[in-house]
Amino acid sequence: MRILYVEDEKYLADAVVHMLKKDGLDVDWVADGEEGLELAMKPIYDAIILDVMLPKMSGFDILRKIREQKVKTPVIMLSALGQAEDKIRGLDYGADDYLAKPFKTAELIARLHALARRPALQDENILTFGDLSYDKSNRTLNGLSLTATEATLLESLLSNPDRPKSKEYLLAHIWGNEKDGVDNYVEVYISYLRKKIEKVSDSVQIKTIRSLGYKLILKNVK
Ligand code: CA
Repeated sequence: MRILYVEDEKYLADAVVHMLKKDGLDVDWVADGEEGLELAMKPIYDAIILDVMLPKMSGFDILRKIREQKVKTPVIMLSALGQAEDKIRGLDYGADDYLAKPFKTAELIARLHALARRPALQDENILTFGDLSYDKSNRTLNGLSLTATEATLLESLLSNPDRPKSKEYLLAHIWGNEKDGVDNYVEVYISYLRKKIEKVSDSVQIKTIRSLGYKLILKNVK
C-alpha cells in the first residue's frame, strides 16, 4: 500500500512515518499544502492522510480540489481541533474518515487498512495509466479538455495499453470510411495528443514503435 501523508508538524510526521513503514506501508510525506495537492492529484496512492492546518493550502482545500477533479483516493483527515464541525466539513468535502489529534498510530494504521479493504469506488468513466486519469464522461485528461478525435485516439491507446496500435488500425478505428486521403491524420493527432499529455503528465508519453505503431509508456520504464 502506498500512502501520501500531508503533515507540517515534523516531529509528529517523523514518528507516524516510522510506524507506518514498520507496518510495511510505503509513505510519501510532504509538509505543505501546495505540494500535498500536487501529489494527491496523482492516481498512485491507496490512501491519503491529510492534516487540516497546513502552510500554503489547508487540508480542506486539498480535499475539495481533488474531489472536484474526480480523484477518488480514500482520504483520512487529521485535525488538532477535534471539533465536530471540522469533522462534518471534512466528510462533506468527501473525506472517508476522520481522526482527531492526538491519536494513536495504531488507530491510524487500523483505519488505513479498513479503507484499503473497502472496495474502491469504481467509476467506469475513468481510465488511468501512470499518472494519467482520463474521464470519458467529459473528455478530460487530468482536467484538460480533449477534442473528440483526441479523446477517441487516447481511448484506443488506453485499451490493452501493452499492445501497440498500428497507424492503419487507428485510421480505421477513428476515421472509418472517411479515411481516404487523410493518411497523415494519425501522425497529426498523435502529435496533438503528445502535447496535451506533456502538459499534464510527468511520467507518461506516447512511444512510436517502428513498424508496429504507437503505445503509452512510462518514461522511466524501458
Ligand atoms: Ca498542521
